[in-house]
Amino acid sequence: MRGKLVVGNWKMNGGLAANAALLSALKAGWQPAAGREIAVCVPYPYLPQAQAALAGTAIGWGAQDVSEHDAGAYTGEVSAAMLRDFGCRYAIVGHSERRQFFGDTDGVVAAKAAAALAAGLVPIACVGETLAEREAGTTDAVVVRQLDAVLTRLGPDVARIVVAYEPVWAIGTGRTASPEQAQAVHAMLRARLEKAGASGVPLLYGGSVKADNAVALFAMVDIDGGLIGGASLKAAEFLAIARA
Ligand code: PEP
Repeated sequence: MRGKLVVGNWKMNGGLAANAALLSALKAGWQPAAGREIAVCVPYPYLPQAQAALAGTAIGWGAQDVSEHDAGAYTGEVSAAMLRDFGCRYAIVGHSERRQFFGDTDGVVAAKAAAALAAGLVPIACVGETLAEREAGTTDAVVVRQLDAVLTRLGPDVARIVVAYEPVWAIGTGRTASPEQAQAVHAMLRARLEKAGASGVPLLYGGSVKADNAVALFAMVDIDGGLIGGASLKAAEFLAIARA
């Protein structure tokens, strides 16, 4: 059976004091159970803080991006091996904000996923359509194109990743895909992954998930958990989502 996973994406938020309070509330409030996992993806400078707070707990941590390069003259980049040094388990790749504001193409996202895997990290590969693409009826074509770039690059290793479907129009907007809308895309992605021999890949949904909509979303047969932005900054809300 596929495990359940809920990952917080803090984005460019936080500070030492606020993080300390959030991490300790998560530690105090999370009851580990078989087949259920939570993790937080924090800004790079706070990785040592996350590592110190979470090492030895059932809560994982990771980064929000990773370089496609191993080492060298790439000013501003952070390699997958560096993330491993700080105990990261996960690296998000292809978040729509990276695609939109930093020019990450499908090819770059696939290369980042490969670099993460090669260093022993689990890439969380994000796919999702914009509102214009949904309204033009191209949702399936867009997310398949994005997923296929990763599938082609990783081959059989794709079985070791996590995929997150995040409709761009639902991220940070308060507008969530209905459970049925999300399930339809997840079922299509699941079929694609099954064809590639990767039926066990967890498929997360992301986009304005809150405690009050998580139960209905996570009840869908092909939704294995969530990638949570804004709501992951509030311990009680994030824990309520994780319990859903
Ligand atoms: C995200 O950043 O991945 C996300 C889903 O954000 P939010 O939950 O705030 O929509």
